[in-house]
Formats: sequence, C-alpha cells, structure tokens
Amino acid sequence: MTNNIIQKRLTAIRQQFEDWGVDGLLVGSGTNRRWLSGFTGSAGQLLITRDKAILATDFRYWEQAALQSPDFALFKHQRKKEDTKKFFAAANAVKIGVEAQHVTLAESARLKEIDGIEWVPLAETAESLRKIKTPAEIKIIRTAAAITDQAMARVNELARPRMSEKALAWELEKMMRELGADGMAFDVIIASGPNAAFPHHHPGNRLLQAGDVIIVDMGARLDGYHSDMTRTFYLGGEPDEQFWSVYNLVQEAQTAVLDHIKPGLNGKEIDALARDIITKAGHGDHFGHGLGHGVGLNIHEAPHLSTRSEEEIMAAGMTVTIEPGVYLPGWGGVRIEDLVVLTDDGFEYLSHCPKTPIIPI
Ligand code: ZN
Ligand code: ZN
Repeated sequence: MTNNIIQKRLTAIRQQFEDWGVDGLLVGSGTNRRWLSGFTGSAGQLLITRDKAILATDFRYWEQAALQSPDFALFKHQRKKEDTKKFFAAANAVKIGVEAQHVTLAESARLKEIDGIEWVPLAETAESLRKIKTPAEIKIIRTAAAITDQAMARVNELARPRMSEKALAWELEKMMRELGADGMAFDVIIASGPNAAFPHHHPGNRLLQAGDVIIVDMGARLDGYHSDMTRTFYLGGEPDEQFWSVYNLVQEAQTAVLDHIKPGLNGKEIDALARDIITKAGHGDHFGHGLGHGVGLNIHEAPHLSTRSEEEIMAAGMTVTIEPGVYLPGWGGVRIEDLVVLTDDGFEYLSHCPKTPIIPI
C-alpha cells in the first residue's frame, strides 16, 4: 500500500529537479531520508529520479525498510563494491544531486569513482520542504512540548540548594521519560549561577545555592520529533534589582515578538522585534545568538530567525522557537524560550509552562 504523504513529498522534491539541474537525487542524511521515505533505520541511501524511488540499505534493515517504505524499491546492499555500481546503474540518471552539507570527503571520493555520473552539490534538498509541518507532525510536536511543559512545571519543587546541576538534569530527564518521551531532544541544560552566562552550558557538579539564577533548557523527543523550551529561575525569595532588570527585559523582548509574529514576515524582521529592545537597553552585545529556529525531525532546522535570515519567510505550519537571551559574564544570564506553530492568522503556543521565575526556599 502506498502512502499518500510520502507520494506528495516525492512529487514536491521532484518538482525541484529542474531548478537544481539534476535528473536524480541521492539522500543519505538521516532526517531527510526519513522524511522522504518513512524509513527510520540509521543507515541507508535514497536514490530518487523522475520515475524511480529506490532505498538501499544493509541486511540489518531489509525487513524494516520493506515495511516502512512501500513506496520505495528496496535495493539490498551487501556492502560489496559492485553493489554501489549496480545501485546507481538502476537509477539511470546522469546528473545526480548530493547533499553538500552531509557528504563527507571520503564519501565524495567514492562517488567520484563511479563512471558516467555528474554529481551536483546542493546546499539544501528536503530541508526547505520540511519547514512546513503537516497536521500529523504538529500533533506529535505538540505532545512532545506538553511533556516538556509538565516536567518544567516541576522545577520549582525539584531545585533545592546543594543539589548539583547534573542531579537536577537527571531528575528532569527521568520525568520526561516517565511522561512518555522516547528520549531527550538534546542533553538537558542546567546552567546555574555564573554558569548561566554560557548559553549552552553542560550541567556539571556545581551545587545550586540560594541567590542563583538557573537557566533550564530542555525538550522531549517523540516519534523522531523534538520540542524545545527554556525557563529561567531564581533560587530564593528576593532577587536583586539586576535580576529583575535583565529578566523583565528578556520577557519584554519575547512579548514584542509574540505580539507581532505571523506568516509573511521574514526571519530578520522577527529577530529585530526582540533585538531592538535588548539593544536599546544597552545589552545588544549580550544577546549573541539568533532569536529562534525551526524544530522538527532535527532540534535545530530551518527556518532560522536571526540577523542573517532575510530570505526566510514565515508561513503557516512552521514550528519555531522564540528565545531571546541576555548573558552577563561573571553574573549569569536569562533566556526565555517558547515553541509556537504559525497559523494562517498568527500562531498557536505549543509551550504552556508559566513564566514564574521565583523558587522560594
Ligand atoms: Zn532550547
Ligand atoms: Zn532552541
């Protein structure tokens, strides 16, 4: 039985062939392979031409590939050199696009040994199509975000003085697994005290203490899809003025985005909604990353919201994060991140966890 969604995706990718100047496409990267074929195995290559769709994989996955990818002819690769030749001969294509971002130098050298094929490096293949999620994809991401919400809502009970960053990360990971996550979207980030000045701090042995700013950035992974959310907390009753001034600034920047984001705006314009506010407050240099990113089969994917994203036009069905941050070396930082899905007239929140930073002790 063929799969409608896969057939639609194959049609959409073939429609790009003329622009790319190719008559075939080789796909080896995990997420594009999965999105185009439905095959979730960790090894394999797709070869898509105007009239053929072939999936080559090794013995470990033959059964699985036949079940998951009925729209593809299965090529049983036995890791012999002549197999590779047979695989490409079956496609009968002469100009084949390759994923320039994913092919290693070693693979590239092997491809060049195959006679009669001109390889066309492509910066993006399925990435630009994957930006717009189907209702079924949004449903999975919504569930992954709900798991993240529920775990995040427990931080104020879990985080206590003398608990290590690592221990808190593990408690949250356990909770997300118990709530049904297949795994983590990425290693849980707990950045406490001065560590909160590092946007992607890896949780270590530092013990939480009263007066700490704590950034918690995490997401559940479900059915191959990801979620992503950040909250910033203050451990103790009475934060100083510095905390409130930075926290309120970041929140104001995020609110400015959420008040205006909608289809039709580009990634740079949306980034500027937050960046202008942070810059005016004198913290432009302390917001060194982009405002947000797409989330799907990859935790970071197109579209990007940043100063370089003029070409990325928002459209309904895109799932993006809005995550302004301000980081002050020696003091700490604040980041607030929500995941939203763009709709025809605005957006829907996928993150719902309240933004209440104070953890009384
Ligand atoms: Zn995040
Ligand atoms: Zn993020």
